[in-house]
Amino acid sequence: MIRYIDDLQLTGKRVFIRVDFNVPMEGRRVTDDTRIREAMPTIRRALEMGGKVILASHLGRPKGPDPKLSLEPVAVRLAELLGGKHEVILTDDCVGDGVKKQVKELKDGQVVVLENLRFHKEEEANDETFARELAALADVYVNDAFGTAHRAHASTAGMVPFVKEKAAGFLMRKEIEYLGKVLKNPDKPFVAILGGSKVSDKIKVIESLLPKVDALLVGGAMAYTFLKAQGVEVGKSRVEGDKLSLATRLLEAAHRFKTQLVLPVDHIVGTEPTENSPATETPDNAIPPDMMGLDIGPKTRAIFAQHIRDARTVVWNGPMGLFEVPKFAEGTRSVAAAMAINTQATTVIGGGDSAAAVEQMGFADKMSHVSTGGGASLEFLEGRDLPGIKALETR
Ligand code: ADP
Ligand code: MG
Repeated sequence: MIRYIDDLQLTGKRVFIRVDFNVPMEGRRVTDDTRIREAMPTIRRALEMGGKVILASHLGRPKGPDPKLSLEPVAVRLAELLGGKHEVILTDDCVGDGVKKQVKELKDGQVVVLENLRFHKEEEANDETFARELAALADVYVNDAFGTAHRAHASTAGMVPFVKEKAAGFLMRKEIEYLGKVLKNPDKPFVAILGGSKVSDKIKVIESLLPKVDALLVGGAMAYTFLKAQGVEVGKSRVEGDKLSLATRLLEAAHRFKTQLVLPVDHIVGTEPTENSPATETPDNAIPPDMMGLDIGPKTRAIFAQHIRDARTVVWNGPMGLFEVPKFAEGTRSVAAAMAINTQATTVIGGGDSAAAVEQMGFADKMSHVSTGGGASLEFLEGRDLPGIKALETR
């Protein structure tokens, strides 16, 4: 069982919240504060409940202390988002006597932001001494950083057993509820759409979803490995030669599970994966020898849209084509639009590039859930236990 932040009594307690403040920066400026804003409901609730809030995050990949990767700009933005009602104090480290003292002297309504956790290599090494030092700052541990939940680091896993009480924040709860529903009790018909660059990245997701879904729609570059395995002419398309027998096995498994595995019946093809390439429709699923498949074609879009329309649950990971180039983005856009507009289904998006595509195309707020964790959402859909979620479980 996992408890959530509002199940706890926080008055006067030191509430350590692991957040994901790993935001894009240019110089010392936060260029996109989405992740800070997404943590606000949990931070606000902890403050309203009378907690003394201590926020911890990593930023980038520092090799030791690095002023360029200080959380200072994040602390400044956070203070703005709190409407100037709370003083935000940035510590100069995340552990040590100075930090302990600052936390001890924390006054009501003040918020502490610990300096970048990854200034210490012990964070990623999940070092026990370091984990105990972090735990010593807290009466209550809250994890709201789904994006790092697939990593067993000191702040996501190691410290948790050393704190008296633990809970998930609101962002974490939304991830667990939606992704959990998809895996455990999806309303039927349940349709999964998988795309992206490589079959090899997605094998475990396919294997995990295949027995559960009514239909698996495959687009993106990985479709060509499946088509080639069926003997279809795929020209110069990206194919993983060493995954052809795996693709055949997956097609056979789909047949056994009575799952429809739906492959593209037409394509948008080009000569190279860049914007300099021409873009041509093929009449059927065969690709000319000197061409490569770069998006799904209009007939495939219509078939996919129909599956999406009739579904009660849709989960999508992986773009349908080279969506970064507009002339190869229509497949991805049409899947996003069908999920956003033309269905009553619960719609869940996982994967970094897929989430970026949906946001860029303006459909994000029309989905039931767009996961904030690229790698973490994939591992969740693979059916794996994520260490950061596992650590929150109480008996
Ligand atoms: P996600 O991050 O959502 O899991 P992936 O990382 O697996 O998705 O794949 C995204 C990438 O796959 C994008 O950069 C996209 O351009 C690329 N891609 C999709 N289809 C094709 C294709 N037919 N040819 C080349 N690249 C493709
Ligand atoms: Mg990706």
